[in-house]
Amino acid sequence: MQNHNDIWARALESLASSMSQVSFDVWIKTLVPLGFVNKKLILVTPSISSQVLINKSYIDAVRSAVTSASASFSANLSDGDADADDVEIITETQKEEYLSKLNAEGGKGAVDGAIIAAAVDKKEDEYAQFVPKYTFDNFIVAESNRLVAAAASAVAKNPGSQYNPLFIYGGVGLGKTHIMHAIGNYIREHNPALKIICVPTEKFTNELIDSIRNSRDSRDNREFREKYRSADVLMMDDIQFLSGKAGTQMEVFHTFNDLYQSGKQIIMTSDKPPKEIAQLEERLRSRFLSGLIADIQPPDLETRVAILKRKALQEKYDIDPVVINFIAEKVTGNIREMEGLLSRVVFYSTLVGKCANNLALANEALKDYADVKNESITAYDVIDACCNCCNITKNEILGKKKTKDIVEPRQIAIYLITEMLPLPLISIGQLFGGRDHTTIIHARDKISQKIKTDPKIKAKVIDIQTYISDVKRPVS
Ligand code: ADP
Ligand code: MG
Repeated sequence: MQNHNDIWARALESLASSMSQVSFDVWIKTLVPLGFVNKKLILVTPSISSQVLINKSYIDAVRSAVTSASASFSANLSDGDADADDVEIITETQKEEYLSKLNAEGGKGAVDGAIIAAAVDKKEDEYAQFVPKYTFDNFIVAESNRLVAAAASAVAKNPGSQYNPLFIYGGVGLGKTHIMHAIGNYIREHNPALKIICVPTEKFTNELIDSIRNSRDSRDNREFREKYRSADVLMMDDIQFLSGKAGTQMEVFHTFNDLYQSGKQIIMTSDKPPKEIAQLEERLRSRFLSGLIADIQPPDLETRVAILKRKALQEKYDIDPVVINFIAEKVTGNIREMEGLLSRVVFYSTLVGKCANNLALANEALKDYADVKNESITAYDVIDACCNCCNITKNEILGKKKTKDIVEPRQIAIYLITEMLPLPLISIGQLFGGRDHTTIIHARDKISQKIKTDPKIKAKVIDIQTYISDVKRPVS
């Protein structure tokens, strides 16, 4: 198998020349190749929104660039070497799961040595790895997470004495892992003698399966048991993954009882409350319910702004409050996604060599994101917005008049429709009173050029785009 980094580097070259600079820089260049699973090149993107967008708009281009790049290397390979014949876009949160798949294929040379080495290196202390930034100090407390924050702080100060087990639940990207790691970081600093084991539930399951498979007697997975039952604090992340896994549930049940009876602290996170986890043994559900159940709700706008400000400070981003507000308004239910947009704006601003302090730039950096959110936008929404912002009528914009005050808004409308909607040029031409597709191309290219040279046009286009997303934003 070829080297994934080389293939991706070559694929990037061809992708760079086949798409707009902004889309390439913001969505494609930020992908990180992880390795191959079954001849599929795995590419990592930071958030679910970018995964959705890439899968929707760019996946065919990426796939064909990768397969061609791979084929171009194949000429120099021997018969046994395989090509990459597909791609898969995964998010940061899926990385762990894919790393284990890569390692499973490692013997066949599917993944390069560095990744295997990193995985082996991690083994030593891998159960007490807390993200250093996930501290209580960096966790903004508000109405939406007050109970969790208070309970977590009490547990960190006195593990095993109160709130045992602590069951934290809430939607994706709302800070469950952050607060659990904050407990870990705190205990490590203040009570280093305690043995903390922090494990994603999926990993616990995989490990249990491996340990059963590798032991001589299928019931003898003593090593595994002893490890988990020796913890003073056991943290299991995303416990909803126990759903339907009877064997793992049994193991968790016994581990739980053992630890609980010896006064050890158990902390779990889940994306739903215990009663909503399907196919979960009743005896285990009742154990989960026996301590404190604390939920995290989506944060309000003010809290989202505070979180972004803290993040900006933490990362030393030079970013204007107006831009922070703009981002906080865009995402309501997922802090990770919101942070992703912040990095994207900062990344984009360094790319164009400007400070992240104006809305136009933020708007431009997040242009594609707006597209995903506003799937219900139609060509008529764009036309209406242009008419409204430029003070002309629908008949005028769609008609034959060629005066500048009409032609310019018409060209902007055409440009925006081609940019925002997957409509064939011929259909756009029909929409504008039966114009030829070459006229549509001319209008599109003209505005695309002018945006680069004429700040007034650029401002107008951004105004119209903002108008469209304001009108289309769902009422929350
Ligand atoms: P979950 O585990 O619930 O999916 P995470 O704990 O991974 O979510 O949080 C996602 C991101 O949001 C992390 O970068 C985290 O630091 C950030 N975050 C979540 N809640 C807060 C908060 N209250 N204050 C600061 N950052 C937060
Ligand atoms: Mg999490």
